[in-house]
Amino acid sequence: MKAPDFDYHRPETLAEALDLLARHGEDAAIIAGGQSLLALLNFRLAAPERLIDIGRLTDLKSLSEDHGHIEIGGLLRHCDLQASPLIARELPLLHKAIGHIAHPAVRHRGTIGGSLAMADPAAELGACCLALDGEFLLVSLQNRRWVAAADFFLGVYQTALRADEILAAVRLPKRRPGSIGIFDEIARRRGDFAMAGLALAAQTGDGGLSDVRLALLGVADRPILAGKTMAFLEGRPINEARIDEAAALIAGEIDPPEDPAYPPAYRRHLTGVLLRRALLELCS
Ligand SMILES: Cc1cc2nc3c(=O)[nH]c(=O)nc-3n(C[C@H](O)[C@H](O)[C@H](O)COP(=O)(O)OP(=O)(O)OC[C@H]3O[C@@H](n4cnc5c(N)ncnc54)[C@H](O)[C@@H]3O)c2cc1C
Repeated sequence: MKAPDFDYHRPETLAEALDLLARHGEDAAIIAGGQSLLALLNFRLAAPERLIDIGRLTDLKSLSEDHGHIEIGGLLRHCDLQASPLIARELPLLHKAIGHIAHPAVRHRGTIGGSLAMADPAAELGACCLALDGEFLLVSLQNRRWVAAADFFLGVYQTALRADEILAAVRLPKRRPGSIGIFDEIARRRGDFAMAGLALAAQTGDGGLSDVRLALLGVADRPILAGKTMAFLEGRPINEARIDEAAALIAGEIDPPEDPAYPPAYRRHLTGVLLRRALLELCS
């Protein structure tokens, strides 16, 4: 099928794009890399009256750091982040996860803002931002607000973004001495969306893990934190018996949606396997 007709706007500045959204937000869709939106249009699952192409907004293409954080412009592509030494050094969890997103062709067009705004429950970046306790800058003509990743994802393809807002930037804390970041997922084929995935961020020390944040993808209607398992892992040394307990705990904690291809029990099992792998990696 082909996309329905639409008017096409290509603003040169953020102010121009926000003005267009203020006037037409309800009937318009932002297009960034187009890797998700074009499929929705072609399958006629979306039919906006106009597309606002934000590809020329240089304000959204910056990558900066201060003493504690990295700020990533919403238009940076997956391949930009994958090639960035700053991201590899300061955000190793995110860096590892990007290699699991689709294939090089998709990573050369798709953007971090597009992926987060799309809010696919199996997307890698949402879970990483949740594990890292990130924040997203949402801007409109009238307002700018930072929204925590934990408050941003509302359901399958649902977010806190309003019709007149653009996701302009993502702010993530830099790694600290002693911090670890593990990303892993299981997909049918390399590059497919994951059946289940895990992003684990924590501090390591003599007493075991602290500040544990364990985010999961592909097992709920949005990326989620595994709160009970996080509490179990907090402040305790990791050993084989605890790994078994933690894997059983996480499998019981989640409630994946019904899916004929991958039943909930299977996804629970995969999540336990992923956690076991992650904790074994920490012990090795
Ligand atoms: C074959 C294939 C395999 C894929 N596999 C994976 C995978 O394994 N993991 C994964 O995470 N993704 C996967 N994707 C999706 C890919 O990562 C997309 O790049 C991403 O989901 C959307 O980014 P985009 O820039 O292309 O957004 P677009 O397609 O341009 O937009 C997506 C949605 O976000 C909105 N939007 C875009 N940018 C903004 C912004 N800055 N502010 C507000 N709203 C915005 C749009 O209006 C639209 O609703 C796959 C895609 C394809 C085609």
